[in-house]
Amino acid sequence: MIKMVNTVLGPVDVNKLGKTLMHEHFWFSYAGYTGNTLYVNEPEDLIKVGLEVAEKVKAHGVQTIVDPTGLDCGRMPEILKEIAEGSGLNIIFSTGYSYEAEGGAAYFRWKQAIGQGEEELYELYMSEITNGVGKTGIKPSFIKVGTSLNVITPYEEMNLRVAARVSKETGVPICSHTEQGTMGPEVAELLISEGADPRNIVIYHMCGNTDISYQKRVLEKGVYCAYDRFGIQGFVNCPRDEERITVLMELIESGYVNQIMMSQDMVNVWLGKPPAWPDEMKKNLEKWSSTHIFENIIPILKQGGVTEEQIHTILVENPKKLFASEAVEKENHILQSFSEQL
Ligand SMILES: [Zn+2]
Repeated sequence: MIKMVNTVLGPVDVNKLGKTLMHEHFWFSYAGYTGNTLYVNEPEDLIKVGLEVAEKVKAHGVQTIVDPTGLDCGRMPEILKEIAEGSGLNIIFSTGYSYEAEGGAAYFRWKQAIGQGEEELYELYMSEITNGVGKTGIKPSFIKVGTSLNVITPYEEMNLRVAARVSKETGVPICSHTEQGTMGPEVAELLISEGADPRNIVIYHMCGNTDISYQKRVLEKGVYCAYDRFGIQGFVNCPRDEERITVLMELIESGYVNQIMMSQDMVNVWLGKPPAWPDEMKKNLEKWSSTHIFENIIPILKQGGVTEEQIHTILVENPKKLFASEAVEKENHILQSFSEQL
């Protein structure tokens, strides 16, 4: 049976996803950017940049970009749709709220305080996955959630529980942001204990950590781990790319290639006022781009003995397996009853 996944242009056969970048932002900002009315991003400017990015990644054979911008951090599916139409790239996006410090937690903390947070989040995620975002009909294909540095806050725990419940009912995957890879085992355990399938879970930003035994503790849960911040170096205790490569090679040698994903977490447009990076930071970020892994990282992995087939597993097979859930089929049958209730 053909497995389908929803993209911004509708359902696509997972076998046609091809080379996939699992974590890239066409644009992004931290919740609150909309308050700065002096800087409003015009759709045509976002489309222009998006089409340029699409051309650059396509030159490296990329056929699909997964954009996990939280719905509180500037997600705009209608503009993603124009980029997909103009470029031929598959674009997969998410429903879901970011971790507490980065996103729009205030509203749901209030609802949580009056005992209504969980149900409202559930209704929102289910409705977006089933019916699409607002009146657009454009459907997200995974749930993006996240946790803080060394802690899962009560708000984040609620968000994770809801994500697990929705994933269990729809088959849609969950991608969970971490701060420097911390709380990976705890996030995996919580999601699994709430009914999510480990094969439907990606722990993002595991390349923020260089401890192999810790990495294995997370991988042993059966989840995917994303080494998705290549090019972001030298600040907030971020490891350097060389250190990330060492960890990745060791994990591949240890037999975990079927659970590994790679990306760059590039932000191509910062919504709001564009940042003027301090000089040292600018230098540390000079390689950060949507094509950095192809230009600078994969060649080093290959020199170190990683095979073409293993790279194919990481960039093609693993994303395909993740999205080969039954969400689309389920949505046409079981989920119909959910939308009738609304
Ligand atoms: Zn990101």
